[in-house]
Amino acid sequence: MTPATLKNRKRIALLGATGSIGKSSLDIISRDSENFNVVLLASHSNSDELEKVSKQFPDAVTVLAGAEGGEEKLLNAVTQIKPDMTINGISGSAGLKPSLAAINAGSDLALANKETIVMAGNLVMHLAKEKNINLIPVDSEHSAVFNLIKSYSNNGDPSSSLKNAVSQRLEASSCETINEIILTASGGPFRNLSLKEMEKVTVEDALSHPTWSMGKKITIDSASMANKGLEIIEACVLFNVPPEKIKVVIHPQSIVHSMIRLLSGVIYAQMSKPDMRHPVHDALYWPHIKSSMLETLNFDSLSLEFFKPDTEKFPMLRLARDAAKNGRLYPCAYNAANEIAAAAFIENKIGFLDIPRITEKVLQSDWSGDIFNLDEILNADTLARQIANSFINKK
Ligand code: NAD
Ligand code: MG
Repeated sequence: MTPATLKNRKRIALLGATGSIGKSSLDIISRDSENFNVVLLASHSNSDELEKVSKQFPDAVTVLAGAEGGEEKLLNAVTQIKPDMTINGISGSAGLKPSLAAINAGSDLALANKETIVMAGNLVMHLAKEKNINLIPVDSEHSAVFNLIKSYSNNGDPSSSLKNAVSQRLEASSCETINEIILTASGGPFRNLSLKEMEKVTVEDALSHPTWSMGKKITIDSASMANKGLEIIEACVLFNVPPEKIKVVIHPQSIVHSMIRLLSGVIYAQMSKPDMRHPVHDALYWPHIKSSMLETLNFDSLSLEFFKPDTEKFPMLRLARDAAKNGRLYPCAYNAANEIAAAAFIENKIGFLDIPRITEKVLQSDWSGDIFNLDEILNADTLARQIANSFINKK
């Protein structure tokens, strides 16, 4: 590579480098050293793994965020390095501050960490617009909707709306051509169980996801459908639509990643094999479309099914809709309560169906704080965790 080519490479920060999204990202990035240069790699712990990864990328600063003072170090690194793009593949609420640091540093944000949007969506979108950065969803459903909106909403001159992903999405959603966003969900491993059977499922049962291979927390969330609940909230914020305009449909094969229904009634869907490298690839090259070398979908023996979700069996869906309708800090409380309950389930402290029971109880408190104040958001997060823990300790 010539010095000029080297200089033009996109400087990437990869947060959560040792996780499932992190590995998908590294796979795509390492195939194209002409276009990407990794400048920051971060994980919580797992220093051996992080060191192994960093050997591939000699220009990367590495940060172990779980070490003493590690969080500050990570935020400072993002602020100082000012990456061109930050991929946030951190799990859970710990992803929020790094997302804010990236936006504040003027970095584009490829966002897998849905908690960032669920906890502080309005603040994040406002800041992203102010800093004129591109916020590109990596969650597969939202990546699908984002690309579908970009392609199919007739929103004036398409080339002008490519300037800024955030404003583009807001313009797209406020334009009346999109009637409905349809999020697909695999339905998880318990789709065909009765409520009685679900009462007794084990952590191991919940961790065997039928189609996606992901981190532990999101896999439990997929089994309880809290993941789809979080995604309803995420879609409301990202695409600026009310929860009534977001439908969830069970699609066990995870081939259709999501759909949009236009005012005309026509539905557009995005399809590929269930592989997170697809949305990561699209985000890394956005707004360009590049060859990915990933396995293509073969229609020779493909059958796709769609079902209505059962909200009796999966109350996390209903609770998420209520939280989205109530707005304010209700989504933040939903996320915190679910994080605590899911972790308690993983530790065998509570049963599987206690996850929605505890979340519902937490949401009965008043969560009408200021959504633009980070301290209030973080306080609500802490309080919701305390309340959730108090119900767990009673068990
Ligand atoms: P994972 O558990 O496999 O990996 C999490 C990564 O985050 C690890 O590298 C870990 O070291 C790091 N991490 C954890 N706590 C941290 C902290 N406090 N500071 C810095 N780093 C920290 O999780 P995952 O499945 O890759 O999911 C990551 C995020 O992406 C989640 O928000 C999840 O909802 C979202 N997501 C994941 C998938 C998927 O297929 N895995 C799909 C869509 C969205
Ligand atoms: Mg998803």
